[in-house]
Formats: sequence, C-alpha cells, structure tokens
Amino acid sequence: MTRTRGKKAPFEPGLVPPPGALLEWRDSQHFDRWQDRPCVLCDKPTPMRSHAGEPVHKACAVYWIAANPVEARLGRFASDTQSKSSQRATHA
Ligand SMILES: [Zn+2]
Repeated sequence: MTRTRGKKAPFEPGLVPPPGALLEWRDSQHFDRWQDRPCVLCDKPTPMRSHAGEPVHKACAVYWIAANPVEARLGRFASDTQSKSSQRATHA
C-alpha cells in the first residue's frame, strides 16, 4: 500500500446510516457539475452521485435505505468518511 498525500483523496464510502437517518454527502465528488443524469431510483435528472458513481438524489438514497434496510447494509449508499482533521470548504 502506498500512502500518497495528494490532492485527490480516494473516494471511499464511510458508514451506512441507519434507516431514517440522513446521508452525509459533503464531498464535492458527490456533485457532478457537468451533467445531470437520471436518478437510478426515481428517474428524474440529478447531478448527485453515490460513491459508486450512481446518479441518485440524496433524498432518494435515504429513502431507499429506509425501504431496503437489509440490502442497505451492503453499502450501496453510504455517508462520507468522517475526517475531523482537515476540512477544506474553499472549493465552491
Ligand atoms: Zn431520485
């Protein structure tokens, strides 16, 4: 394993929130500013992406977790990893 402290952190999913809890998607990589794509759950266009790159509304993902708690444990939609150390909010 090589640990490179580059500008691009790996886009790793964190914890799967319990049903009814909100997803924490703060990373800008969740937002595709180039194009909207149909949400895998409701079919309406969304710029949001899951960690796996699936186009999905965050609200839809939260709803899906609540509706499919067993499958949700497999980690299809997860919150961001919590990094308390350094948070940069400068990127618009
Ligand atoms: Zn949706």
